Amino acid sequence: MSETADREPRIVVVGAGPSGCFVAGALRRALPAAQLLVVDRLPCPFGLVRYGVAADHQSTKNITRQFDRIFTKERVDFAGNVRVTASPEPGAVSLDELAERADAIVLATGLAADRPLGIPGDTLDGVFGSGAITRALNTHPDADTAGMLDRLGDHVAIVGMGNVAIDLVRFLAKTPADFAGSDVNDAALAAYQAAPATKITVLSRSAIAHAKCDAQMVRELGQIAGLRVEIEGAGSVDAEALDDRVQRSRVEALRALAEQAQDPRPRVTLRLVFGATPVRVLGEERVAGLRVQRAGAPATEPTTTDIAATSVLSAIGFAADEHSPLADASDVGGRVRPGLYRVGWCRRGPNGTIPDNRADAVAVAAEVVADLERGQLGRGPLDPAMPLLPAAIAADAVSYSDWLQIDQHECATAAESRSRTKLPTRAQMLDVARAGTSGA
Ligand SMILES: Cc1cc2nc3c(=O)[nH]c(=O)nc-3n(C[C@H](O)[C@H](O)[C@H](O)COP(=O)(O)OP(=O)(O)OC[C@H]3O[C@@H](n4cnc5c(N)ncnc54)[C@H](O)[C@@H]3O)c2cc1C
Repeated sequence: MSETADREPRIVVVGAGPSGCFVAGALRRALPAAQLLVVDRLPCPFGLVRYGVAADHQSTKNITRQFDRIFTKERVDFAGNVRVTASPEPGAVSLDELAERADAIVLATGLAADRPLGIPGDTLDGVFGSGAITRALNTHPDADTAGMLDRLGDHVAIVGMGNVAIDLVRFLAKTPADFAGSDVNDAALAAYQAAPATKITVLSRSAIAHAKCDAQMVRELGQIAGLRVEIEGAGSVDAEALDDRVQRSRVEALRALAEQAQDPRPRVTLRLVFGATPVRVLGEERVAGLRVQRAGAPATEPTTTDIAATSVLSAIGFAADEHSPLADASDVGGRVRPGLYRVGWCRRGPNGTIPDNRADAVAVAAEVVADLERGQLGRGPLDPAMPLLPAAIAADAVSYSDWLQIDQHECATAAESRSRTKLPTRAQMLDVARAGTSGA
């Protein structure tokens, strides 16, 4: 018989991004009476929805209304400002400590570190990760923006052509007026707009049909006034790719973008280059360009080309950062060991949109429930009266109603033509959360 048969199960989800929220919702549906707690190291929920999704894509961020119901209507508790670590650390709670209190722990900690380019020169001044840039634009409390957005220069090269790269292109190519209604960080926007790029080159290692961006994202670029688009290395598209609906619509969108009426005196020129693999970042101390290997170059031509650039942004994916309780993602089942599971980006790797995490969460929740029913969770009898978090950690935690204080403050104090102005530091977020709790 299950060890938890005579009491309700106790489950902690680590990470309140989309995967953590989806898995908490799925667990609630399967286990209506379970004690469910979602913790996050930040004093706020929603992970990359708040700190990754582009500021000019506010409708995507509306998914938070759905997640909100999990905490306000479905009796899932939230504890922000709670960092979970692999081994004991001051001010944090370890996996072992949680395992003494919960039957199951589900890690939904995502992948936040920028994957390095891994080529000579990739640490030169002027090379920045897309995560670092998008965190700055989204006012992440850990963002280190000093001297980044004001130093991109006239010609920005982006390595990688997934959706995050296209988010960067929109930011670089849009005018300040295009950010009306967004929650972009105004200081970051102003720093960039003081000397915005006039040339953007995006490099895709893949052929045009296999680039990683979605057709819808490509079409959106066509709406940016003053943007001229050039495509290089597109070559011919194999018949197999044209049979695939997703690939065909991507190719059509890219070709339509290049063929649409072009501004004769463009504000910004965007070059999309396919079959181009960077092999070296050029420059002495600061970026001067990129050396690129071209696929399919005729034997009579050199296989590498040098592209001038004033800065290089890497948009080639993400890896575990120093906060991750597990080393890295690998696409295996959700169970790491009985009682410990992982879900979302921290299980599958940095691929997939917000909705893609829902199916993953449902499958992992089913694994947890199956193990629970087989009595394969936990390490031994738990004291059901023991709180899910140690007292010292719980004392500093931010509850969901505390978070709503932050949320309301940010919306109420939004700068003109902004949907919200995010509090920039953890200390300010905690002050506002606590002022609400104390009734101030
Ligand atoms: C720049 C960018 C833009 C994107 N734009 C879109 C888009 O427009 N549309 C779309 O559908 N998808 C978009 N995505 C993809 C989408 O954001 C992901 O699919 C999704 O966020 C993954 O969810 P997750 O919960 O696995 O990870 P995350 O969203 O990263 O959430 C992980 C959470 O875990 C917390 N955490 C980490 N370590 C710890 C720890 N040790 N202790 C406690 N908490 C911890 C983090 O603070 C975070 O809140 C974008 C991704 C990026 C990077």
